[in-house]
Amino acid sequence: MSDASEIPKKEEGALAPEPEEESDDCGEDEATEDMEFLRNLFSRNLGIGTPDKVLDELTLEGVAQYIKSGKCKNIVCMVGAGISTSAGIPDFRSPGTGLYANLQKYNLPYPEAIFQIDYFKKHPEPFFALARELYPGQFKPTVCHYFMKLLKDKGLLRRCYSQNIDTLERVAGLEGDDLIEAHGTFYTSHCVSFCCRKEYSLGWMKEKIFSDDVPRCEKCSSLVKPDIVFFGENLPLRFFTSVKSDFPRCDLLIIMGTSLQVQPFASLVSRVSKSCPRLLINMEKAGQANALFGILGFGGGMDFDSDKAYRDVAHISTCDDGCLALADLLGWKAELEDLVKQEHARIDSQDQSSESKGAPAKASSASAAPQHKRGQE
Ligand SMILES: [Zn+2]
Repeated sequence: MSDASEIPKKEEGALAPEPEEESDDCGEDEATEDMEFLRNLFSRNLGIGTPDKVLDELTLEGVAQYIKSGKCKNIVCMVGAGISTSAGIPDFRSPGTGLYANLQKYNLPYPEAIFQIDYFKKHPEPFFALARELYPGQFKPTVCHYFMKLLKDKGLLRRCYSQNIDTLERVAGLEGDDLIEAHGTFYTSHCVSFCCRKEYSLGWMKEKIFSDDVPRCEKCSSLVKPDIVFFGENLPLRFFTSVKSDFPRCDLLIIMGTSLQVQPFASLVSRVSKSCPRLLINMEKAGQANALFGILGFGGGMDFDSDKAYRDVAHISTCDDGCLALADLLGWKAELEDLVKQEHARIDSQDQSSESKGAPAKASSASAAPQHKRGQE
């Protein structure tokens, strides 16, 4: 499995500094936090110690009580395509709405070729034709996206790990440091030439995509590609460095809209401490331990239902409904609904002004990047 150990040694010193802690933290709190961190590290790596039962009950109410208790300050969210479906963006793995099902017209040797870096460098046209069809940035973030923005505003969000490439987290107000786009993003693009790597903006790429030109670097004429992760490309380095610092310190993991089938993303659930509660909001249960993982010695799968279940909560609903229910229990419901209303009105007014300037018509979009088999080696 992919691991922080894959990072070249020379990068060790280049780790991003820890985000600033709460200003009211005194030295004693830091010492307690360090102790907790070490204890979790030992218990995770050596399997020693009895995990604490943090939640009074394994329900959404139990999670809300825990958040309200003030003991939870480092929430990590892990999100997938399911958080964007209510924005009108199809989950490309869903039968019927599947992206791969619509690829025949591009005459690809096999469907995955459209996201393969070697194929792209020789035949970029199909990818850009698809990008035109799937162009992100014309959709509004969902209730779930704004719930994460509320977590941020209340100082509770350590980071959001997203598998989506639709940039809706950014539109909702999560910024670069709040966000790990594990499968890359359309937000920036780069020249594919290793000697050049010139960066291009979303606006620049959008203009090229809709002008039917294959985007070429202004400096060296090589292809320019949105920074989504193709097959044959590594996940962003920041993904591995941030996982290493975020997950041992995470005190509530909220997993939304993902079936936890894509590695290395899926294995992240096992990287929090044994006492860290894990809330899944999804249309079905996911990530449960199975015999195979047991034999391979991975461990750490979700356990919602067994006699030994002590920290995992499954809330089976849409991501929006789950977030609204949790917000309600936290006393934040009106605040969340106001935020959604205000922000959607703002986006609509922007859309109207750009439409009057002759911006391209609304297209459909896909939310998730290609699956990454790399982590399953
Ligand atoms: Zn270039």
